[in-house]
Amino acid sequence: MNWINNGKKPILIAGPCSAETEEQVIQTATRLFRTGKVDVLRAGIWKPRTRPGAFEGIGTKGLPWLQKAKELTGLPVAVEVAKASHVELCLEFGIDILWIGARTTVNPFAVQEIADSLKGVDIPVLLKNPINPDLALWLGGMERLQNAGLTKLGAIHRGFSSAGEKIYRNRPQWQIAIDFKTAMPELPMINDPSHITGRRDLLFKVAQKAMDLNFDGLMIESHVNPDAAWSDAAQQITPEVYGQLISDLVIREYDPINLKEKTKLDRLRKEIDMIDEEIMSILASRMKIAREIGSFKKDNNMTILQNDRWQEVLHKFVDRGTQNGLSEDFITRVIKSIHDESIEQQEKVMTGE
Ligand code: PEP
Ligand code: MN
Repeated sequence: MNWINNGKKPILIAGPCSAETEEQVIQTATRLFRTGKVDVLRAGIWKPRTRPGAFEGIGTKGLPWLQKAKELTGLPVAVEVAKASHVELCLEFGIDILWIGARTTVNPFAVQEIADSLKGVDIPVLLKNPINPDLALWLGGMERLQNAGLTKLGAIHRGFSSAGEKIYRNRPQWQIAIDFKTAMPELPMINDPSHITGRRDLLFKVAQKAMDLNFDGLMIESHVNPDAAWSDAAQQITPEVYGQLISDLVIREYDPINLKEKTKLDRLRKEIDMIDEEIMSILASRMKIAREIGSFKKDNNMTILQNDRWQEVLHKFVDRGTQNGLSEDFITRVIKSIHDESIEQQEKVMTGE
């Protein structure tokens, strides 16, 4: 990941959701520059909006404003591209870094079109995760870029759309970003707390978590007058608030050399490994009994799902879990997942698979 900042961590990308006016772009850029906490300036020029009629981006006329911001600050500039014509214009106007948005990553045709338009131009490209929690789609998009010969690549984790989610605009589902990192460890992973949270008050918490999970950088939206922003007003912060947020982050080391407590950590990890072993064997025993129940139900011509019994199991589990200090959300996901597998196992017995 030396293509940017010689591997300095975290890489800090900041700027408005959208370029709106020349003045707004220049003021945001210069005030961000003054914080000393920015490596790359960002601004949306073409905005994918959920409903028509919302501000759809200033378009090509904003590109010279970014050129000017780059000249004034000396910082590289990044723009979202969704199709080949955007790429062409960005190259023409000296944009340094491109990113592909979440609504584009979902569409392999669009990602391929962008990849094709970049053949022979090794410009840095960052690929946001798709809107839906689909790791393969995210990896596949990255493979399309790699196959086009691009070598300066990175991923952006911006969370996943999820019905019923109350806190976040896009549920983080950190595990998917971690799985991406496991599959492509050589690529930098940048976290975007702005689009995950959708709200200012949670930005710090998410940014700190990303740092604690050893992410390589952050992309955060900043605007000189956040409340008056033409897009994503609720999640933008002034350059000064942004600067403070970055200063407040605790950046921990992945593997500090002088870790005196290393033996303690090793011991705790051993304990975790042993507990994981136990969880595994308990789950296996539970599934074995589920199969026996499946066979009983088959012999007695009973349906697999007995909803009153399931409700009883669910409530008992949630009660016990919350009494033990586990969150209701977590414990519900665990028991639902176990129950799903249990049904699957019983179904196998029923159908004689
Ligand atoms: C953006 O970065 O302004 C944007 C549109 O993000 P996303 O693709 O993550 O929704
Ligand atoms: Mn935005």
